[in-house]
Amino acid sequence: MSDTVLAGDLHAALANEEPLVLLDVREADELALAQIEGVVHVPLADVATRASSLDSSASFVVICAVGGRARKAQTTLRDLGFSRVRVLEGGMTAWLSAGLPAIGSAVPSADVAARYDRQMRLPEVGPEGQAKLLAAKVAIVGGGGLGCPLLLYLAAAGVGHLTVIDFDHVALHNLHRQVLYGTADVGRPKVLAAKDAIARTNPGIEVTAVEARLHEENTRELLSGHHVLVDATDSFAARYAVNRASCMLSIPAVFGAVSRFSGEVLTRVPGSACYACLHPTAPGPGLAPTCAEEGVLGVVPGIVGLLQANEVLKLLLGYGAPLASKLLTFDARSTTFRALALPRDPACAACGS
Ligand SMILES: [Zn+2]
Repeated sequence: MSDTVLAGDLHAALANEEPLVLLDVREADELALAQIEGVVHVPLADVATRASSLDSSASFVVICAVGGRARKAQTTLRDLGFSRVRVLEGGMTAWLSAGLPAIGSAVPSADVAARYDRQMRLPEVGPEGQAKLLAAKVAIVGGGGLGCPLLLYLAAAGVGHLTVIDFDHVALHNLHRQVLYGTADVGRPKVLAAKDAIARTNPGIEVTAVEARLHEENTRELLSGHHVLVDATDSFAARYAVNRASCMLSIPAVFGAVSRFSGEVLTRVPGSACYACLHPTAPGPGLAPTCAEEGVLGVVPGIVGLLQANEVLKLLLGYGAPLASKLLTFDARSTTFRALALPRDPACAACGS
């Protein structure tokens, strides 16, 4: 007997009513998202202790998300004398990607399956990761040079609920870098122009447009209930407000800043350094000139905004590691990135004890 079975072959075997025991070794919350009808559920950690309740002479197909846990369960069962144990090759990810029938809250519709096919093929995303993205709520403070690429790519990736907060109107001098907007949008509130642009890209995304300036008093009301906060402003007051909200509400936050040819990105997760650990106080007047004062190359906020979007996706999907307690700097002239260690300040006014 071979070690594995392909999703299509398993589907055909089930259609032929071959006597098979489908053993799903994922966790209960994963099964709730999507499962093949009729599976026996035994989480991987319990396989050894619960094997005696299974018929060792039966023919088993073991299922997990992509195949790794199923192979461990296969080894465990074989060691216990089960002779006919195969693994579903590619797990539920392969099953769902092939469009085979399943039950659960994350079983993709035809539109979702097609739209997100290329990213769901990544085992780190899969249909279950896509369901997480579609359920996620992300607040982006600032609909400018950083906010435009952030909103465009997060919407395209299927981050289901985006709150965009900005008080400004689209101006002609924004358009060399704020690529979400067109010439016809000049004079419109940025949050409304952003909402229209996102609807053209992906009408399945819910956009909450908040035409307001973020400050200490409205932070909790506007930012609580989100899974990730993003600072995409050029205002120190707003950045400190996002940072304090991240510390107070225990929500991860991704910070970005640009100036002329350079930019930086920092992610705060609970326990890591926060923005105030890096800059305990805002620079004095004139010490941190804005883009309006000193200019910025249009591609720089594009690149930095997309680095922030990648941080958001990492936090939502769990792949790789976020830029926590690290400051990533980018220089467009030399095309160099540097990741500087950023220790947490125990005496920090925002995140310290
Ligand atoms: Zn801090």
